[in-house]
Amino acid sequence: MLNNTATHHTLPPGNSVSIARRFRRTSIILFAIVFMVMAAVMLYIFSRVITWVSLDYTESFAASSAEALSGHINREVGLMGKAVRSPEVIAWLQDEDNTDKKSAALGELKAIVNELHSYNLYIGVVNSSNEYTVQRISTPEIFLPFATLNREVAEDAWFFTCLDSPLEYRVSVGTDHVLQRDRMWLDYKVSLEGTPLGVICTGLEYGHIAGELFANFDKATMIGSVFDSSGKVHMSSSQSNMLDAAASFNFRGENVRAGNDDPILAAVQGYVQQRSDTGLQLPVAYSLPGGEYLSIAPIRGTDWYIAILSQGISIFSPTLFMPLAATVFALLVITALLSTLLTHRIIFSPLAMLGESLGLLSANQEARIYGTERQDELGELSRTIEDLFRKANIDTLTGIYNRRYMENNLLRLVEQLSRSGTSLSVLMLDIDFFKKYNDTYGHDQGDECLREVATTLNQNVSRADDFVARYGGEEFIVVLPNTDQAGACVVAQKLLQAVRSIKIPHTASSIAPYVTVSIGVTTGRVSHKQGWGSYVKRADEALYSSKQNGRDQYTFLAYSGLVTGASND
Ligand code: GH3
Ligand code: MG
Ligand code: MG
Repeated sequence: MLNNTATHHTLPPGNSVSIARRFRRTSIILFAIVFMVMAAVMLYIFSRVITWVSLDYTESFAASSAEALSGHINREVGLMGKAVRSPEVIAWLQDEDNTDKKSAALGELKAIVNELHSYNLYIGVVNSSNEYTVQRISTPEIFLPFATLNREVAEDAWFFTCLDSPLEYRVSVGTDHVLQRDRMWLDYKVSLEGTPLGVICTGLEYGHIAGELFANFDKATMIGSVFDSSGKVHMSSSQSNMLDAAASFNFRGENVRAGNDDPILAAVQGYVQQRSDTGLQLPVAYSLPGGEYLSIAPIRGTDWYIAILSQGISIFSPTLFMPLAATVFALLVITALLSTLLTHRIIFSPLAMLGESLGLLSANQEARIYGTERQDELGELSRTIEDLFRKANIDTLTGIYNRRYMENNLLRLVEQLSRSGTSLSVLMLDIDFFKKYNDTYGHDQGDECLREVATTLNQNVSRADDFVARYGGEEFIVVLPNTDQAGACVVAQKLLQAVRSIKIPHTASSIAPYVTVSIGVTTGRVSHKQGWGSYVKRADEALYSSKQNGRDQYTFLAYSGLVTGASND
């Protein structure tokens, strides 16, 4: 009955699961999933971006290289065009042995050769098959043929091939049979009204042009090749020797690289076909399987192309991937930490404080519930709990404190007062002949009577720490801390009088025509050896005496014995 152990744990502690821990656990799983999805999405986006950038880069490289080479070729073609249209040259080729015409032509040709990148001009004359040479460095007094061109000799092929060609000029690559050097040859026909008079030829050193063209190539990641529409490769950045280059990149012979089914071959053939069909002049970039990029650009003024093959950048290369992954991971960890910290601050910390304050409240009526002033869900929860706590301490019939409140508070008071050793008085009241009252007026009226008596008692116990509680049935308890015997007896007398004065009719009572009460009073100096129960017990004993002695009176019971107070006065 008087047991007051705190009972706010409904689950044994071992079975309880912390919301915070559960949140952390689920959020870790959630973060792991989000991390993986984000990483996949970012990888995808990065690889797309890298592809776009690489395609663009390769294409712009091909375009600028093609532009550089065609600029070079077209400049030489322009200069050679000037030579073949020179009236002096035409006049000399018509009258080969005329020394005046010969020296006039030589002057013209020397001026041209000074402007060319190459050092030599070779002139083949159609009617005599003589071959002349004009050099930039030497200044021969007499301009003499140094060979006779012969269809049967391979090294004279330039002259006859150009003469037989429907084209005005030809660009080709071959080995200089005198110096044994690879050269880019430009053969230009000299004609008068459709009749060929001769061919002027110049050879640019391969190393000079290729060096300029591929100067910026990082050979580890980028290879460039210049080839013609027959598939013959003329220059390559990967080879110092043109003939080797041709062997490694010959698409008509389908030997573009070691290995068959080469996607480069397909791209090159497709591009050449498209150019011959539509006159395409723009560079095109291809993304090849295996992370390579190929761009092909036409070289203006020739049937040549430049193809650039780039290794591209791989997202999975350690230099790129590791810092990227580390950054993404660090960002996610920081986000996870911040969000955990934030949820702890906003949710779990206030929840823990509410729980703590409720634990204290359960053991001690004075404790304040945390968060009742908050304007959020937690505030609502706190206020609801506060309301429930209040209701749990109130007797529903009379509206005054109930026995639970009395027991908890008395326990606390005894603990508190035992420290200062001050007096505590307890009064127990019981309505006289209440059974008869119920029998006479009915149970409902009995309830009403209980309410009126309770209100009256409550109104007459007014000091801050005093309180009245319904102990059970028609019994009430009044607790008066810091009150000695004299003070308690004054209150008892006052309560007797107060109940009499409301004059609730009670015809069945044998001591008065209205409702009266009997009171037992006890007072003690509180020591922590005393339980609060002993006060109630002594008040109950004193009440019994009041009943025995005729009711409507109070009895004081001290340790030494009975002291009957003024009762009926
Ligand atoms: P005494 O003067 O010796 O105290 O006589 P009594 O009749 O008051 O004593 P008893 O304890 O025998 O009767 C108490 C009665 O109070 C019994 C019960 O019917 C009545 N009672 C207890 N609780 C309530 C209640 O909540 N409402 C009503 N109407 N009656 C109650
Ligand atoms: Mg009773
Ligand atoms: Mg009674």
